[in-house]
Amino acid sequence: MAVLQEVGQEIMQWSERLALHSEPGWAEKGQLTVTYLTPAHLAVADELKALMGEAGFDEISIDAVGNVVGIYFGEDRASPMLLTGSHYDTVRNGGKYDGRLGILVPIAVVKSLSSQKRRLPYGIEVVGFSEEEGQRFRATFLAAGALTGSFDPAWLSQLDADGVSMAEAMQAAGLPGTLSAIQNIQRDPKKYLGFVEVHIEQGPVLCEKALPLGVVTSINAGVRATCKTIGLAGHAGTTPMSMRQDAMLAAAEISLMAEQRARADEGSVATVGQIQVPGGSINVIPGECVFTLDMRAPTDPQRDALVTDIVKEAEVICARRQVQFEYTEVMRASAAPSNPEWQSRWERAVAKIGQPIFKLNSGAGHDAMKMHTIMPQAMLFVRGGNRGISHNPLEIITADDATLAAKAFEALLEEIN
Ligand SMILES: [Zn+2]
Repeated sequence: MAVLQEVGQEIMQWSERLALHSEPGWAEKGQLTVTYLTPAHLAVADELKALMGEAGFDEISIDAVGNVVGIYFGEDRASPMLLTGSHYDTVRNGGKYDGRLGILVPIAVVKSLSSQKRRLPYGIEVVGFSEEEGQRFRATFLAAGALTGSFDPAWLSQLDADGVSMAEAMQAAGLPGTLSAIQNIQRDPKKYLGFVEVHIEQGPVLCEKALPLGVVTSINAGVRATCKTIGLAGHAGTTPMSMRQDAMLAAAEISLMAEQRARADEGSVATVGQIQVPGGSINVIPGECVFTLDMRAPTDPQRDALVTDIVKEAEVICARRQVQFEYTEVMRASAAPSNPEWQSRWERAVAKIGQPIFKLNSGAGHDAMKMHTIMPQAMLFVRGGNRGISHNPLEIITADDATLAAKAFEALLEEIN
């Protein structure tokens, strides 16, 4: 192969082309926000269809949940397919590469194959996943969920902030909006070799190590919880420090304890991302505090130990402070270790293009985490600039790194069979 010299530049131009579409209220400020089935989102889907058309895919379609699906058949149309892709929705005021890079890299590789009229012993199916970020609806990974048969029927009646149900949003976008149509797009794993995903790292590791590519060993397991501490509100002037039941200080101590506990492990992380004193005042001791806990680790047992220890210690802190502690788990996701065979294919592909093999785990969730439930998967990370910042407009990659990602993908194709 190796007709990929200018490919990085092209991928950067395609990213800019997709980034022209953003939602009202954000677009005016030059910010990128593309949430599920909004006009900007539908416009990006159209761009992806057009890019796939220009690249020479054999079949291009938009499925019942808005995924953009491009198929490039193998020598024999009946031969199994390599499934790949990533998401094209964004967080609010997000970056241009999160998700999209993993659609554009395989499009570039198929474009190269098709321009050489080259067919492989297997087909390539590229999916632009319509939804991964869980922004408009609380239905994170709904697009990959539809492919794996884990689309929750209750999601269809869920309302967005404007009171529009998901089914209505689908119908307004020209999709059927019915459960049966969604169930129809579930993939049969027997027809696929596996799933691979290219994604910007969204963290500082590759940038700090001055490495363009990283092979993912596992996607971290996670638990999210909403927590409440209940103490006693009182006068901030008259209540001696020794006689307080300050709900916010209990939450603060829990936050610091969670930090210490996570730091004691290799690869564990714990975050209190939201903390509030509902109805609080400058001169009132907080009687109630609500906060969130997000806890992740490379394996399920390590995650479980992290969560158990943090919850147990939170109870000890609250008992000492005479504060009640309420803990409600709202999300639990299993770790998705890379399939060893596919991971070593990525490693050989990276070595083949002259890059050092560097392995790391993924702290963020990805579409591959869902696909993991039905077929073998492995991911390749691409270095982000600006110390790897993501979910932020400062997210950036270089054209050279995009070229290396495409070359690694091309080399991966040679490793199959
Ligand atoms: Zn992403």
